Amino acid sequence: MKLDILVFGAHPDDAELGAGGTIAKEVSLGKKVGIVDLTRGELGTRGFAEIRDTEAAKAAKILGVEVRENMEFADGFFVNDKKHQLELIKIIRKYRPEIVLCNAVDDRHIDHPKGSKLVSDACFLSGLVKIDTKLEGDENWQEAWRPKQVYHFIQWKNLKPDFVLDVSGFIDKKTEAIMAYSSQFYDPNSNEPETPISSKNFIDSVNYRARDLGRMVGVEHAEGFNVERFVAVDNLDSLI
Ligand SMILES: [Zn+2]
Repeated sequence: MKLDILVFGAHPDDAELGAGGTIAKEVSLGKKVGIVDLTRGELGTRGFAEIRDTEAAKAAKILGVEVRENMEFADGFFVNDKKHQLELIKIIRKYRPEIVLCNAVDDRHIDHPKGSKLVSDACFLSGLVKIDTKLEGDENWQEAWRPKQVYHFIQWKNLKPDFVLDVSGFIDKKTEAIMAYSSQFYDPNSNEPETPISSKNFIDSVNYRARDLGRMVGVEHAEGFNVERFVAVDNLDSLI
């Protein structure tokens, strides 16, 4: 199945927190979107891998994505090496996305910038024809494929975006998808330990960042992204 957009996150919930509004909007525009989580988030203080699998599936359904896969890399310890790059090249060639979204280029959690660079490197390498890959159980060699653009969403740190996308009208769906991860986020009845992302302030901050980015460009809500190279526009009117 060919996808228009493939979203990578180091942990289940990264895609929703960083780009949930963008995903919901692109799906509503008829785009085929998929999510690939690099790990099962098994080192998270709250919950455990099986709970997070269920939550991730629920969130994917809310957002309306075509597919969600998990690479089952080691949470906290995966590295950006040939072995991990080849696994991601296989996924990129399998879905042949035009655009890839991935983790923040700089962040509090070490897996975020690490996953960001790993995905970015894999997107480049996936375009090299002399790298031969096959999907497990398939006799055919995969064709080389390089996405047109790799955009990095913004997570814990308030990075300055290179562009913002208007997600007005999709913030409720984003919040609903995030709250599908009930083990991770604010729940006044939970007996689990407090974490940096379990406070009410954190979940509120996701919303007020979107409102603030929206305010800056004259819309209700927006999500910000960093780019690796210039974003070209067709004409000056294509800017909002
Ligand atoms: Zn994360």
